[in-house]
Amino acid sequence: MDVDELYQDIIIDHYKHPRHAGTVTEEEALADEFNPTCGDRIRLTAALADGRLRGLRYACEGCAISTASSSLMSEYAEGRPAAEARAFALRFIAMLRDEQPWEVGAHEELEALQGVKQFPLRVKCATMCWHALLKALDRLK
Ligand code: ZN
Repeated sequence: MDVDELYQDIIIDHYKHPRHAGTVTEEEALADEFNPTCGDRIRLTAALADGRLRGLRYACEGCAISTASSSLMSEYAEGRPAAEARAFALRFIAMLRDEQPWEVGAHEELEALQGVKQFPLRVKCATMCWHALLKALDRLK
């Protein structure tokens, strides 16, 4: 696989038009993550209503992979039951690290990130937002 093939249409679309992106103040922030290998940053906030994630919003400054992954993560997580989001985030991080078989089930758009696992330096770009989601979920408990 060539590195250019990593940048599929779905990745480019989410990079150019990140879903649920916005400004997040320091007071609102539930998670701040930094990926020093690439210089990516994310600040994320959300709320819980009836056990579901609502109003998930993040500010991400980074490369195409970190931005696209944040956008795809937000589409997955918004409205999702917190327990389900936590379990999936843990599994998805392990999948990106190639520690678990790749299986995204019904979340077809996440398929676009599969190529990342072949580029170890980019894995942290893709996992950063999922770590931010886990941290936010911890703080929402
Ligand atoms: Zn990056």
